[in-house]
Amino acid sequence: MKPALQTRRLLRKFGGFVATNDLSLSVEQGARHALIGPNGAGKTTLINLLTGFLEADAGAVILNGDDVTHLAQHQRVKRGLVRTFQINKLFADMSALESVTLAVCERMGWGWNWWRPVGDHQAAVDEAADLLRSLGLREVLNQPTRSLAYGKQRLIEIALALAARPTVLLLDEPAAGVPASESRELFETIAQLPRSVTILLIEHDMDLVFRFADRISVLVNGALLAEDKPELIAVDKRVREVYLGVSLDG
Ligand code: ADP
Ligand code: MG
Repeated sequence: MKPALQTRRLLRKFGGFVATNDLSLSVEQGARHALIGPNGAGKTTLINLLTGFLEADAGAVILNGDDVTHLAQHQRVKRGLVRTFQINKLFADMSALESVTLAVCERMGWGWNWWRPVGDHQAAVDEAADLLRSLGLREVLNQPTRSLAYGKQRLIEIALALAARPTVLLLDEPAAGVPASESRELFETIAQLPRSVTILLIEHDMDLVFRFADRISVLVNGALLAEDKPELIAVDKRVREVYLGVSLDG
């Protein structure tokens, strides 16, 4: 089987500074793959290169076997490579159901106009409601997003991404800003997403990473230091040196 997502010798510089250094990474179909590394290791830069928000100086991004290196962001989304974005002001004022319905309409190519036959629109509403229920948000469908706990807001951001029907979902610190009391539940919900969605996750909380991931890549100075199963990463001497003083338990 082709990997869901690959980079081949990816390079990105900011001026003279090498942020992504000849990086070759492979994410298997259906994986729960975590990308870890100290601050400034180049994790977010890599996500930006994968989505096309940033252009690479050299190397390639391969999605399900196809070279997407030179595709625009929206073209990559259409092919199934989707990241979450923080809920903006517009979405914050709408209900979860309205927001996700709009995202479904967007995927269907209806843009932001509501001038659709009622039946079409109902199908989008039903799909959005199903998606939100599958993420445990049944109770808050009609509440303004702004009024919800942060953990629930992050789930709505994930629902917005899922509305695009991704084959590969990129999550850059989904628990950022979420109180510890909610982050465990947030991750349990993410872990229950169908395996038809491959997940590449960036997360600094090692406890969450080791619970979630079946594969871990360690990035240091824009390059891959190690990649393996969690139980082997946890005992890797080079990784332990980077994370000196942090407990890595599998
Ligand atoms: P991480 O997400 O692993 O913390 P980043 O990808 O955000 O790391 O950053 C990697 C390095 O690249 C950092 O040293 C950062 O300062 C630098 N960097 C990131 N984006 C830019 C930019 N737009 N311009 C200049 N330097 C940048
Ligand atoms: Mg980052």
